Amino acid sequence: MIYQTPREETVAVKDVSFDVEKGEFVSLVGPSGCGKSTLLGCIAGLQQAQKGSITLDGKAIDNNRHSIGYMLQRDNLLPWRSVWRNVVIGLEIQKKLTEENTEYVSSLLKKYDLWQFRDSFPNRLSGGMRQRVALIRTLALKPQLLLLDEAFSALDYQTRVNVSCDVWEILRRENKTLVMVTHDIPEAVSMSDRVIVLSKRPAVVAKNVEIDFGANRPNPIQVRSHPLFQQYFNTIWKELVQ
Ligand code: ADP
Ligand code: MG
Repeated sequence: MIYQTPREETVAVKDVSFDVEKGEFVSLVGPSGCGKSTLLGCIAGLQQAQKGSITLDGKAIDNNRHSIGYMLQRDNLLPWRSVWRNVVIGLEIQKKLTEENTEYVSSLLKKYDLWQFRDSFPNRLSGGMRQRVALIRTLALKPQLLLLDEAFSALDYQTRVNVSCDVWEILRRENKTLVMVTHDIPEAVSMSDRVIVLSKRPAVVAKNVEIDFGANRPNPIQVRSHPLFQQYFNTIWKELVQ
């Protein structure tokens, strides 16, 4: 993927190739500016690379865009809409406000402790709750694959750890596939089945690190005190500071 401006060309991503299994959680980590957001943008179909291909279930991603949900650092909730009207906005735009979909959204709000806030406005919610609302808004469209770009970095540390744990549990329970970008190694290790370490720009895959905490994997908070946690951290850290 090359960005062209009148003054210069920037090769953002070069030779990156990887597969993600259904249900797998994968993190992309790498130096700032190495092309992580670009890569996610390409997967989301928001931008087009000059070369290469991206497929979902064997079909070009362009024809599959509706099965992808994308979440950014800012939750982009609309302040003048209630929680309910925020979470159904995608369904409204796509004219999919069916009874079935409305029920699904209600069930998510109930399951994840937001039902009693459905008529509140976003400014009444904590950062963590807002991020859960943003996640439910994304899940409302029933994406198969979720893309998270530094989705927790606007939150303070404690909230960040809690929200990433909530999001992890929700996505696992809803059987989603996750590709996320983060610059926080503990966050990557705590949430992923695999961490892909990218090189400096233009990004190539520097290392694939399988994260295995056994069959009954502890949640992202508990796993931080697992004996293997520091070992995975060190492996990734060494690769990044080279
Ligand atoms: P990361 O998310 O890893 O920090 P990005 O994917 O945002 O990196 O950016 C990769 C490189 O591409 C950077 O050098 C950045 O300056 C450049 N870049 C990103 N977006 C644009 C753009 N719209 N136009 C020109 N250059 C861009
Ligand atoms: Mg980025």
